[in-house]
Amino acid sequence: SFLDYAPAPESRSVLALRESYGLFIDGEFVEGRGTPFQTISPATEERLATIANANEADVSDAVAAARRAYDRVWSKMSGRDRGKYLFRIARLVQERARELAVAESLDNGKPIKESRDVDIPLVAAWFFYYAGWADKLDYAGLGANPRSLGVAGQVIPWNFPLLMLAWKIAPALATGNTVVLKPAETTPLTALIFAEILQQADLPPGVVSIVTGAGDTGAALVAHPDVDKVAFTGSTSVGRQIARTVAGTNKKVTLELGGKAANIVFDDAPIDQAVDGIVNGIFFNQGHVCCAGSRLLVQESIHDEVVERLKLRLSTLRLGDPLDKNTDIGAINSREQLERITRLSDLGDAEGAERWTAECEIPDNGFWFAPTIFTNVQTSHAIAREEIFGPVLSVLTFRTPGEAVAKANNTPYGLSAGIWTEKGSRMLQLADQLRAGVIWANTFNRFDPASPFGGYKESGYGREGGRHGLGAYLAPASSSAVSGGRGG
Ligand code: NAD
Repeated sequence: SFLDYAPAPESRSVLALRESYGLFIDGEFVEGRGTPFQTISPATEERLATIANANEADVSDAVAAARRAYDRVWSKMSGRDRGKYLFRIARLVQERARELAVAESLDNGKPIKESRDVDIPLVAAWFFYYAGWADKLDYAGLGANPRSLGVAGQVIPWNFPLLMLAWKIAPALATGNTVVLKPAETTPLTALIFAEILQQADLPPGVVSIVTGAGDTGAALVAHPDVDKVAFTGSTSVGRQIARTVAGTNKKVTLELGGKAANIVFDDAPIDQAVDGIVNGIFFNQGHVCCAGSRLLVQESIHDEVVERLKLRLSTLRLGDPLDKNTDIGAINSREQLERITRLSDLGDAEGAERWTAECEIPDNGFWFAPTIFTNVQTSHAIAREEIFGPVLSVLTFRTPGEAVAKANNTPYGLSAGIWTEKGSRMLQLADQLRAGVIWANTFNRFDPASPFGGYKESGYGREGGRHGLGAYLAPASSSAVSGGRGG
């Protein structure tokens, strides 16, 4: 098993983990007043580090530091100077990329080739992109001299820990806001290494604070009266609670929530490319992806061929040690998440869908789930409706484009969708009819800082990324007309 396998010494050794990490408040690491917790590797269950736990008083300290930094330094600084800090942070992320990639794979369980080639490069790209906007906010679509909002309280999930941090912090700082961010409790490590990067970059104290802890820490941050803007990425149920908390306050809020995306494959699609796109769509990052293509809608005439090809392709994927450069499927992030995936998959069996599982050796320790496909899935099945957030694909069929659209839209979510066809006119027509914030054409799970990202319906509201993402952190300066931008 991979547990006997010793990763190349340089991979783990690029990372010098501390025994324990404090909260990062006002530019310094400080002790938390809550009970510290452990962060573990989900691939081995080994302890990685002890993490401080922020209670309400710690959160208040961080918010007070953010307010001081906003009033005294950050809101007075020119966009050009703020941009310089963001460029510096982006370069430092690149310099420490190997270390960050190893930390991300250890703490989250994702394959090193994903953290190395996708997560961390995108983190740098996000900071570079928003660095460029810092002195061009007149073009954000909110008229001349739009204003920052103040202190942003940001809460993020565990599936792309550092990338979600970048999606939150880069636009907030570029627009002149200060930040208190709470990472997810199972993946705090890269956010804390990022705090070291902020020190290296000489970012003025308090401009960004990182408070680690569980849901109660996040709840204290969201409810804090001196937080002007709340940005949340996570589950729809917590998103609802947050919407209730901020209702009746003056806080601005953006919510990026769950998804149940349809990946729609027509019989004229480039099949090899489509099969790769389906695999990438649902098995990338163990399916822990809000915009994952978890529902395959395949035209009836090519169903058998596509499913056969998928099985062949999945049989070649390697599951195991996240630090092994050959690993395709890493560990499930937590025992709790593994239980959720198992429970929903068992419901698939009970409701009459047909399960196929890729043959692979499952390590004795850690949390694992082999790539799984369900065929004979009906729209009423739980596995066609609920977000599984794991490496499980539900296959449904359609005959006509109209049926594809109706089935794709038959979900409470509306985050993303994929369309595979050689017919450009059909592509455009479908893109128009699908109720999804992001639509990929003959590709899937492609991200770029210049593209807005966000959902409809229970997938939340507001847009992150691109020019639209600036709107989530800005208010118009005067009565000048507001144009463009759904963000915020
Ligand atoms: P989660 O909602 O359980 O937790 C997300 C974060 O919220 C964590 O940091 C958690 O500690 C915190 N939190 C928990 N309770 C809270 C409360 N009452 N108040 C404030 N904060 C609280 O979600 P998760 O399990 O970490 O992440 C998985 C979910 O995130 C999935 O549903 C996925 O679709 C979604 N997600 C969405 C996007 C997107 O952009 N739309 C991106 C990634 C993940």
